[in-house]
Amino acid sequence: VFFDQSAGTFADLGLKKSTVKHLEAVGYLHPSEIQQKFIPPAVTGADCLGQSQTGTGKTAAFMLPVIERLEDPTQDPQVLVLCPTRELSEQVAEETRKLCKDDIDIVVVVGGRPLRNQMKQVEQGVDIVVGTPGRVIDLFKRKSLSFAGLKTVVLDEADRMLDIGFRPDMEYILKNCPKDRQTLLLSATLPPEVERLSSRFMRDPIRIDISVKDVTSNSVDQFFCTVDNHRKLGLLVKLLRKEQPQQAIVFCRTRRKADELYNRFKSRIKQVAALHGDLPQAKRDRVMQSFRDRKVRLLIATDIVGRGIDVGGISHIINYDIPEHSDDYVHRVGRAGRLSSDFKGRAFTFVTKDQGGELTRIEMLVNRMIPEYTFEDFDSFEP
Ligand code: ADP
Ligand code: MG
Repeated sequence: VFFDQSAGTFADLGLKKSTVKHLEAVGYLHPSEIQQKFIPPAVTGADCLGQSQTGTGKTAAFMLPVIERLEDPTQDPQVLVLCPTRELSEQVAEETRKLCKDDIDIVVVVGGRPLRNQMKQVEQGVDIVVGTPGRVIDLFKRKSLSFAGLKTVVLDEADRMLDIGFRPDMEYILKNCPKDRQTLLLSATLPPEVERLSSRFMRDPIRIDISVKDVTSNSVDQFFCTVDNHRKLGLLVKLLRKEQPQQAIVFCRTRRKADELYNRFKSRIKQVAALHGDLPQAKRDRVMQSFRDRKVRLLIATDIVGRGIDVGGISHIINYDIPEHSDDYVHRVGRAGRLSSDFKGRAFTFVTKDQGGELTRIEMLVNRMIPEYTFEDFDSFEP
C-alpha cells in the first residue's frame, strides 16, 4: 500500500534504464516519497540529509544513487555505510544485494564475528563496506581497511548511532575520510545532535524532510490496552468512565460493528451517534453537525467517514478495533487534540492477543513506542 501511493516511477529519478528494469524485476515499481526526493540530488553527488520514518525505504533511497555512481572496481572500497547495529548492517547489505545485479562486492564489517574473515574479505578488494563504527575503526587501524578511495560515506540511522554512543567513533571515521567525498545522512528523527553532526561533516547538505503530518508527535498521548474480544465493550465503558471525555470518537473496523456498538449505547447515553457509510448522506450530515455543536459527545465511526471528520476539540480517540491499515491509525489519532496548544488529546487502541504484530507495524509507522495503559490504579473504582 505504502509504496503505491505515489504515481511516479523510478525512471523519473535519473537512474539508468538498466537499473529501473532491474528494480521492476525485484518488485520495486514505485519509489516511496523519500526515494523520490532523495535519489535525484544524491545521484548528482551532492551531500544529502534525509529524514523519514522507519519503514519508508531509506535504504534504497541512499543505496540506489550509491550503486549508480560506483566506478570500475578498485582495490580500496568506494563506499562506506555506517549503521548502528549488526542486524541493521546485515539488512542493508541484504537490501543492497537485491538492488544490484551480482556484480558488486559488499562486505559486512561488524563486531561479534571473526575479525580475520572480515579482514580477508576486505583485503581481497571490495566496492561497498557496510558496518558498525567500532569494527570499522578496528579494521582501519589494522590497516586492513583503507578510507583513501571512499567516494561516498553514508550515515544510516544517524539518530540511533548517536543514541548508542557512537559519536566519537563516527567523528573519528569522518575525520579520516577524504575531504572531497560525498556524505549522505539518513535518520528517522533530527534531534540537535544529528544537526550538529551534519553541520560539522557535511557540505551544504540538501535536506529532504518527509516528516509526518503528524499528530502522533506531541499533541496526542497514545496508549494501547490489551483485551479479549468479548471484553472490549466492558473495557470501553470502563475507559469512558475513567477518562470522562469531552468528546470522543470510537473507531470500529466495520459498519456492522459500529451499529452494534451504537445500539448497545444508545439506551444508556443520550449523546451518542453512529457515523458510517451505510447511512444516507443527509443523516450523516446531521450527525456531523450535532457532533460539531457538541450535542453528540460520543461518535462511533468507521474509517471511511472518520477521515473526513475535521472538528476541533475532540479529546479522545478510541480504537475499539485496531485499524486494518496502519496509516489509518495516523488518520484516526490525528482527529484528536486540536483544541489548543496546551491541550493534549488521548488515544487508546484496543489490542487483542493475536494483534501484537499489528501494533508493532503501527509503532514502526509512527516511529514511537506506544505504552500500555493499565487499569490497576482504579480497578476498585466505582462509578
Ligand atoms: P527504512 O530504512 O526507512 O526503515 P527500509 O529501507 O528498511 O526502510 O525499507 C523497508 C521495506 O520496504 C524493505 O523491506 C524494503 O525492501 C521495502 N521497500 C523499500 N522501497 C521499496 C519500493 N520502492 N517498493 C517496494 N518495496 C520497497
Ligand atoms: Mg533503515
